[in-house]
Amino acid sequence: MKLEALRQKVWEINVALPKTGLVMWTSGNASGRDPETNLVVIKPSGVSFDDMTPEDLVVVDLDGNVVEGSLRPSVDTGSHLYVYRHRDDIHGIVHTHSRFATTFAIRGEPIPVHTTTAAALFGGVIPVSDFATIGEEDIGRQIVEKIGGGQVILMRNHGVFTVGKDLGEALKNAVYVEETAEVVYYARLLGPVDTLSDKDIRDAREMYLTSYGQK
Ligand SMILES: [Zn+2]
Repeated sequence: MKLEALRQKVWEINVALPKTGLVMWTSGNASGRDPETNLVVIKPSGVSFDDMTPEDLVVVDLDGNVVEGSLRPSVDTGSHLYVYRHRDDIHGIVHTHSRFATTFAIRGEPIPVHTTTAAALFGGVIPVSDFATIGEEDIGRQIVEKIGGGQVILMRNHGVFTVGKDLGEALKNAVYVEETAEVVYYARLLGPVDTLSDKDIRDAREMYLTSYGQK
């Protein structure tokens, strides 16, 4: 079996989606790209996360040809591959319909930076795409066009896509964008709220990139 380590990682991240509360039933997916071969491991379409094994994942090349696997790959495969083809720095993609992020996506409303966490992790406003149809590459095109220098994009009237240098980073972004959307939603219910200044955003981002964690 090809790419066993990546297969295991992609499986772990996919099953983490319902566990973290980001995904219900089968409505989400994660993929990872192998930096050496450029092959992509992705969730099979419509398979429940509970039943899925690492062997059920599908290996495709960047053109969408199935290299290994007996199940049909996710309907979002074309869009994941579009992103990988256009962004060499991205090796993991996570897609969810997590509730609060999707609330902003329905409204077509970018999420401004109201917290130090959002400043540190995202470094700026989380953008919203134009509406894109499911299947083929429309969604991927929106991601590449609108995500800018960030790693998170709200997909208009749909959900959220996050990317990362690896799949772990993409999952972390998916968890934190949902937390960010939730606290912004509740804070606004209580009254008017301010965003952080550009300087405070820059400082928090700089601290995160240079000093946070076990460097
Ligand atoms: Zn979706």
